[in-house]
Amino acid sequence: MEKDIIIIGGGPGGYVAAIRAAQLGAKVALIEADQIGGTCLNRGCIPTKALYKTAEIMQTLNKSADFGFQLDGFQLKMEKAQERKREVVTRLRTGVDKLLEGNGVEVISGKGSLVDSHTVLVTDGDGNTQSVQGKNILLATGSIPKRITNPGVDLPGVITTNEALELEELPKSMVIIGGGVTGIEFASILQSLGTQVTVVKYSPRILPPIDEEVIKRALISFRKLGFKIETGIKIKEIVQSETGLKVLAEGKKGPQDFAGEMVLLSAGRSINVDGLNLDGIGVAYDEFGIKVNSHYETSVPGIYAIGDVIGGQMLAHVASDEGKTVIEHIFGIETQINYDAVPTCVFSFPEIASVGLTEEETKKRGISYKVSKFMFAANGKALTLGEGDGLVKIIANEATHKILGVHILGPHASDLIHEGALAVTNGLTTADIICTIHAHPTLAESFQEAVLGVEGRAIHM
Ligand code: FAD
Repeated sequence: MEKDIIIIGGGPGGYVAAIRAAQLGAKVALIEADQIGGTCLNRGCIPTKALYKTAEIMQTLNKSADFGFQLDGFQLKMEKAQERKREVVTRLRTGVDKLLEGNGVEVISGKGSLVDSHTVLVTDGDGNTQSVQGKNILLATGSIPKRITNPGVDLPGVITTNEALELEELPKSMVIIGGGVTGIEFASILQSLGTQVTVVKYSPRILPPIDEEVIKRALISFRKLGFKIETGIKIKEIVQSETGLKVLAEGKKGPQDFAGEMVLLSAGRSINVDGLNLDGIGVAYDEFGIKVNSHYETSVPGIYAIGDVIGGQMLAHVASDEGKTVIEHIFGIETQINYDAVPTCVFSFPEIASVGLTEEETKKRGISYKVSKFMFAANGKALTLGEGDGLVKIIANEATHKILGVHILGPHASDLIHEGALAVTNGLTTADIICTIHAHPTLAESFQEAVLGVEGRAIHM
């Protein structure tokens, strides 16, 4: 039977697209080579956050005396933490499987390869093949860890994020190559759990999408947590040493080396187009992604692509939103994604979250703006939590008073950011936030106070 749409890849881009298409009455086939949920659910967002929770509990235990506890010691059983992580992942994956089934999506296990603009050949693990026909095809095959090619990357103990998520025993020390969001998240988790971490990064600053002032303040917190960050480092080679591994590099002042029991390669992601036969049928792409137009259609009419495989902001919520948007377009509903209002979160200690323009970007665009900052140290809820580090920084247009950017370093930043996302997406003004009563005592009061500060009306600063 011909499908209305064939989707290759069951990550947060592909499976959300499949459900949306089914909601719109389409006959859908979803082809998945590995496990439904993709990188995000199986090797990314969810397992990292399950381990982040273990790390957070460790931090809480370490400061339990401040809260009136006297503990006679405690021990981390990493295999138990891993078991809990696997349970969370399995529970969520079972839920997604049920949603797909409930919506009537036909899930086909195997690797999809394009035959023409209406046909996909699926090969399963045993080598059996079947041909699936459809009116449209959506490519949502995601990304894989980028392999750097320096000598020594294949040595035992040199791992990617995939293996780092499965560690049943933590190394005493770890060198993380890459200081992007994922590198900093792993550094925060591992350091909290007792591994001595050194992050080395080629570019002069870490966490490229985040406001510079927020990064400067985050660096103070990271130093307190205990991991080292070295920027401007060009990796030459990884070699074995008596204590494990050594990363030989060229630093700002000459040769430098970094020792660790293990080395984690976290220097970005490469698009996953392996075996898709893009060249065979003329779908244009380069190393940064499959080329698409504003409706996510590739150079071959009727074949669309979304998510990590088209590059850009490689985030699960971007993949899912693109999945919904492309399906709605195919079925005649036009919506558009505002890429200027995509929230980015870093699950470090403290958390970092950001939406809209950074101060640097606002200046670059020549917009006259006002900035206000409110420190969590002056927020009652943050102090009761014992988490008074950090701030909320607001950037607003000086003339229109619209909120342009929100940058948060502090407790639950990844949840708090959505008030900022609502403001930036909908062009809300400072007055809109000021007239919205915020409950007391909450962390969200810091957001309102920071906005009040833009207008010179803050009460608690
Ligand atoms: P993927 O999730 O990569 O899914 C693609 C799917 O396609 C896979 O299941 C793959 O098996 C399948 N596939 C590939 N080729 C074929 C083929 N030929 N035939 C059939 N199936 C195929 N993002 C966030 O927003 N928040 C986070 O906290 C976060 N944390 C992360 C932590 C880590 C360690 C990593 C690595 C990533 C993290 N990300 C996070 C990024 C997020 O995981 C990705 O942006 C997201 O998974 C992309 O979704 P996708 O659907 O485009 O691709």
